[in-house]
Amino acid sequence: MKHKLLALTLALTAVLTAAGCAGKPEKTNESFAAMDTFMQLDVYGDKAAAGQIRERITALESLLSSTDADACICRLNAAGSATVDEVTADVLAQSLALCESTDGALDITVYPLIKEWGFISKDYHVPAQERLDALLPLTDYRAVRQNGCSVTLPKGAEIDLGAVAKGYAADEAVKILDDSVCKSAILNLGGTVVAYGGKTGGEPWKVGVANPQNSADYIGYVSVKDKIIATSGSYERCFEENGTVYSHIINPQTGVPVSNGIESVTIIADNGMRSDGLSTALFVMGLEKAQAYHRAHGGFDYVILTDDGKAHVTPGIADSFTLSDNSTYDVSVSS
Ligand code: AMP
Ligand code: MG
Repeated sequence: MKHKLLALTLALTAVLTAAGCAGKPEKTNESFAAMDTFMQLDVYGDKAAAGQIRERITALESLLSSTDADACICRLNAAGSATVDEVTADVLAQSLALCESTDGALDITVYPLIKEWGFISKDYHVPAQERLDALLPLTDYRAVRQNGCSVTLPKGAEIDLGAVAKGYAADEAVKILDDSVCKSAILNLGGTVVAYGGKTGGEPWKVGVANPQNSADYIGYVSVKDKIIATSGSYERCFEENGTVYSHIINPQTGVPVSNGIESVTIIADNGMRSDGLSTALFVMGLEKAQAYHRAHGGFDYVILTDDGKAHVTPGIADSFTLSDNSTYDVSVSS
């Protein structure tokens, strides 16, 4: 899996970085593993910010991980109730609001199902229906009780912030950049990209949309400034059993990995939690519901790739989306 992530990262950066002529602000970069993925920070014009972002992300990981026994979320899952720190409380409150807004397509209580399918142990397998039937009642974000920092879960329920943590990290990184003298940065947090400002010459950043058939390649790119771009793809962390490929995104209604013709959802928004949460949620919804959600809520753009070879884009991003010359996708602008 790691080499896949690395390949994805390299593909993205291949499109992204093309700055740095004489007289331009100096680049500081950091590359590191965090949140079960690979992160690459390129910050221009400020020497300290990249290091500060790295430290902040590492600190967030030690709060939000479901697998690190010392992490706040892991301790909450084990104990069933806890007084959490203010950052964790903020992430939980924002996550639960997104679960509500997406009518449970995003459901942060999906962790028992994620474990059952082997996505944590890497012992991937299709569970018996009785196991899914037993675990489905535990998957219900509405049963999580949060009163500020006081959080209680129903017996057996467990939280997984994997769908939103990189988005929260992106928002925290933007705060650090806002407090710095940096005017230009491109951060790739394991596929959640912060395009801060524009390139040092003022042009927009070009952020690649991965090719689902070969995620080291890209099918096109969006030209953006000051946006956070998150992608959820069926090709990430998937496994195959008896000729069927199972993705790491679970439909909370059925307990089964989503298989609905969507190959990937890329969300472009001003806010990282929104980008990351909605990339997962719209993937679960399927194309028609995702389009309806956008019409009803707005405030973001998408590129949705479907297995019939279409790249569905919102009108707001249509002019900023460019297909690669060798891409076989047809662009369809959603109404
Ligand atoms: P992302 O790559 O942002 O789409 O997040 C996928 C991760 O979120 C998975 O690896 C799971 O840990 C978790 N997840 C899977 N399905 C869901 C879901 N329906 N709601 C919330 N989290 C999910
Ligand atoms: Mg997500």
